[in-house]
Order: sequence, then C-alpha cells, then structure tokens
Amino acid sequence: MTDARIAAVVVELGEEEREAALGVLTSGKLVQGEQVAAFESEFSEALVAGAECIAVNSGTSALHLGLIAAGIGPGDEVIVPSFTFAASANSVVMAGATPVFADIDPASFGLDPVSVEKAITPRTRAVMPVHLYGHPADMTALNTVAENHGLVVVEDACQSHGALLDGRPVGSLGDVAAFSFYATKNMTTGEGGMVVCRDPEVARRVRLLRNQGMERRYENEVAGLNNRMTEVAAAIGRIQLTRLPAWNARRREIAAAYDAGLTTVVAPPVAEGVEPVYHQYTVRSSERDRLLEVLAAANIDAAVYYPTPTHRLPSYGDPVLLPETDRAAAEVLSLPIRPGLTDAEVDRVIATCNSLGGSRG
Ligand SMILES: *Cc1c(COP(=O)(O)O)cnc(C)c1O
Repeated sequence: MTDARIAAVVVELGEEEREAALGVLTSGKLVQGEQVAAFESEFSEALVAGAECIAVNSGTSALHLGLIAAGIGPGDEVIVPSFTFAASANSVVMAGATPVFADIDPASFGLDPVSVEKAITPRTRAVMPVHLYGHPADMTALNTVAENHGLVVVEDACQSHGALLDGRPVGSLGDVAAFSFYATKNMTTGEGGMVVCRDPEVARRVRLLRNQGMERRYENEVAGLNNRMTEVAAAIGRIQLTRLPAWNARRREIAAAYDAGLTTVVAPPVAEGVEPVYHQYTVRSSERDRLLEVLAAANIDAAVYYPTPTHRLPSYGDPVLLPETDRAAAEVLSLPIRPGLTDAEVDRVIATCNSLGGSRG
C-alpha cells in the first residue's frame, strides 16, 4: 500500500473568506469599491511599510503597469534574471522594452550584482530583481549598482509576501514592486496583484493605466487598460492578509525542520539579515532527477522550478551564456512546504529524501 499523497499546494480558503465573498455578492457592488480601497491600505500597512499600493488583476499586470508608469518603454533595456517564471521578462516585452538576461547568485537564486553590472549598456533603464522562492535578492548591492547607473529598480515580489531584508520588507526596497495573489502564492485572491510605488506620481499613473487612463469617468488622460481587481477578490485578499503571518511562521518552522533533518541535499543558505518566507523550499542535488523519482514513488509532490531558464524558452531563444542559471535549472528541487503540512508529513519528506543515501552535495 502506498502512503497518502503529500500535495505541494492546497488552497487555504476558510469560512471567513466565504463570508467575505458572499457579503460582496449580497451588496451588489462588484468593482472598484470599498473592498479594493480597504485591501490597498491594509496591504500597505501590513506588508510594505506604508508605501502606495494599487490593486490589479494579476502579478503580471502589476509588473507591466509598474514598468510603464515608471517610464519604461520602446528602446529601453531592462535587466532581468532568466532563472524565474516567464512573467518577469514577459512584462518587459509587453511594456515595449527589451529584457536583457543576467545571471544569478547561486546562494540566494536572486540576480548577481556583478552580472547585472556587466549587462548594462547605454540603453539600460531599469533592473528587475526577483525575490525567488520567497528569498530576498541582494537588494543592498543591486540598489548600489542601480544608483551608480541611474536605473529604476522594479522588484518582482510575486513570491515573497512578508519577506524581510535587514528588517525591511521586500516590495519597499526599490522604486516600484509587484506582488501576485495567484492561487499557489503565499496568500491568494484566485487571480490578483498589487503594484507598490515609492513616488505618488508613479502611483497616480498606475491608477490611470489600470482603468483606461481615467481618474474621472470619460475624462481619459492617457491610453490605458482594464486591469482592475474585483471586489470579491479584494474581500478575500483582506482575510488572507490577516492569516499570512501565521502561514509564513509555519513555513519557516517547516524550513527549520528540513534544514536540521535533510542529510543528502544542499539546503537553501540564508545570509545574515535575510528572513525568507519560503514560497518554495528549494534544495540542490547532483542527483536531482533520481531524487524526484524517489519522492514521486513515495507519493510526495516535489517539483522543479524552473526546468527551462527563460532565456532558453522558445519565446526568447537568447544565446546569452548564464552558467549559474543553467546549473540551478539542472540541480534544483522544491519540496512541499505549504503551511497545512503536519509534522508527520514533514518527517516523511525528510526520511524519503535521506533514503537516497550519499552526503550533501
Ligand atoms: C506568479 C509570478 C508572477 C506572475 O504573477 P501572476 O499573478 O500569475 O500574473 C510573476 N513573477 C513571479 C516570480 C511569479 O512567481
């Protein structure tokens, strides 16, 4: 008999979310009302130290509008990691600019500041650090590079709600940031996103862009899109926001158990001052594919994020050489770390990984 399946993702929606959604349906006010406004201000206070927040319909929209509002467009280059979800580079392309891929720091999986510096050309206007797996990128060094070259910093915080660097929350460390509330993220609204801005003028442009370029009805100031968040999504998001701290704490607890228990893989290193939120718990192994098979045979959902680096996807096909990106794509494996896992399930994941034998690395 096989053991019960250990799933990687189970969406946590409770009675409170159901009541909040039903309340909106009962009110009959479905778009751009008090739920969206309240979600924006609560998210701002809870997660990004009071920065301006604008709710939109996805994380990709948040990146897209954030880039355009920050003045990025045709003729501009934006330095992005390749080792991330394709949305990071896609948002640059859809803003009319050109993504230029840089390599990652093998410890944090975030952009390597040295590689970023080498990728800068006279056309470079922005850099997009991704806080991958809920682990803050090296923002201190990346902000220094950006400052020295006059670049806009757009944080892709889609996997890192609540992660801290030297006590400061990701999403508040650059000029513009994007969060996602897709169903698999640390908190969800089904589909949804949040743009975070330091500059109120940029925030105003994001508000215009999400709503056909209007602040007042039929007085369209610029050409825009419809990227609005629904009231149902915002009402669910407000509840999820209150549950996020406990979920992130449980993710950290499971990560600590993995750190202590795993003997045959390389655990994710955490530098001084970094407080990840473990959207994924991602190990490295030279026997990654065999480990994946062993876990699958034990009915444990493990996965590779991301098996093909963005620059190698058919949509990009960029010949740039990124050795650490390729190495990560060949070695990484993410173990289940959703907050609902029991201690017994965590122990079973550890025992299954350790059964592979060998030693770390
Ligand atoms: C999920 C994700 C996005 C896109 O968010 P959506 O809400 O799915 O559009 C962008 N970047 C990263 C790193 C993500 O994980």
